[in-house]
Amino acid sequence: MNFKKLNIAPAILKALAKENYTTPTPIQEQAIPAALAGKDLFGCAQTGTGKTASFAVPIIQLLSEQPSRPGAQRHIRSLILTPTRELAIQIYDNVKAYGQFTSLRSTAIVGGVSQKAQERTLQQGVDILIATPGRLIDLMSQKLIDLQHVQILVLDEADSMLDMGFIHDVKRIIAKMPSKKQTLFFSATMPPEIAKLVKTLLVNPVKIEI
Ligand code: AMP
Repeated sequence: MNFKKLNIAPAILKALAKENYTTPTPIQEQAIPAALAGKDLFGCAQTGTGKTASFAVPIIQLLSEQPSRPGAQRHIRSLILTPTRELAIQIYDNVKAYGQFTSLRSTAIVGGVSQKAQERTLQQGVDILIATPGRLIDLMSQKLIDLQHVQILVLDEADSMLDMGFIHDVKRIIAKMPSKKQTLFFSATMPPEIAKLVKTLLVNPVKIEI
């Protein structure tokens, strides 16, 4: 199996080759075609399995198939929520690497750094936003973030977000997005709160267990 067989666009194939990825990992092999087909996904997988590319690659491909017009204001079309600042930065680095030959823009919104720089980047427009729930809620309550154009939502390590007390924030964030969207949901475990969220959020999800 190689990435080309997964119908990945040339610009992304080039980036993956540059990263020295030759063979998709098992989660990538299952998740990428399902996500490219627009399906909701429930992935039971840990970090280290190649989980990030399994959602980042299809997001980059789907969004670059509908590029924003030159000069037009960009909207956040994909939101990736993750529990920690470290994970957010790691995901952002990966999204940047995989999308380096596309015109998409992304940024990470995390706590512990100056809000001013984040505001400036947001004003310039981003297609893909990677965020931790706390700082995102802050910026949303200051009306600095509009989630009305989100087409693809990723909840990464949903069970950790629950453990860290973010579930209420996550639900508030989801409430500000269109209900019609594609959701890619990842959780290593399935406590009752997570099962409930999965049930309300996902429509006929493809289930992937690694
Ligand atoms: P992740 O589980 O997404 O945190 O990925 C774990 C590590 O594997 C990261 O360092 C990735 O850059 C790397 N990786 C992900 N997918 C592949 C692949 N198909 N081939 C080689 N390395 C990969």
